[in-house]
Amino acid sequence: MTDFNRRENLLHIQERIAKTAERSGRNYDEITLLAVSKYFPVEVIDEVYGFGMRYFGESRAQEIRDKAPVLPKDISWHFIGPLQTNKIKYVVPNADLIHAVDSLKLAQAIDNYAKRNKIKPKILIEINTSAEEAKHGFGVEEAIEKTLEISEMGNLDVQGVMTMAPHTDDKNKIRQSFSSLKNIQEQLQNHKAGLFKILSMGMSGDFEIAIEEGSTLVRVGTGIFGLRRRQ
Ligand SMILES: *Cc1c(COP(=O)(O)O)cnc(C)c1O
Repeated sequence: MTDFNRRENLLHIQERIAKTAERSGRNYDEITLLAVSKYFPVEVIDEVYGFGMRYFGESRAQEIRDKAPVLPKDISWHFIGPLQTNKIKYVVPNADLIHAVDSLKLAQAIDNYAKRNKIKPKILIEINTSAEEAKHGFGVEEAIEKTLEISEMGNLDVQGVMTMAPHTDDKNKIRQSFSSLKNIQEQLQNHKAGLFKILSMGMSGDFEIAIEEGSTLVRVGTGIFGLRRRQ
């Protein structure tokens, strides 16, 4: 994969999503492709926008703050990185969806911000399905309780759950991590039917497994943009 064939990269990823959806008896339309543009300059994002992409993901508060205002208004920005409470003001006004709410403290702080500004931000709750220490998110055993607690806060629109698969070549472990998130979503929906529709899981290296396990939103960076200078 080269950096210079982003149109082909994008088409190729879309094709693989379509094939995997078909193979899994799922509808292509129910899977959103988020182009993860972190560390790429606005010129490169604009290039991929030109190929029809409208969903872009950023993982640093300053980047979304600086990029969103200078790019086309019909882009839907998602914030996928860890968020510090003092950076909420950079992120919430720019992001249509915040993927990685990983503590009660962060949820409370976004809820307070939302209340003051009379808005209801859309968020996902991050679950640590791999139990890797380096990963953020609520543990699987507390996921239901905490997600329900956050969804009661009043000024947050909890749209679903998100996870990152373990860093391993073991496909079974990756699959287990995704099916564990799907299971959590189903339990949440038993509590509140019709809610928690978004299942954000799958990246460049594992989005096909994620789709097979029910992902509705895959976050693909390298597969579209090429290699980043930083991770
Ligand atoms: C960087 C990042 C991605 C994209 O990773 P790739 O392997 O480049 O596709 C997806 N999700 C999150 C949370 C990320 O930080």
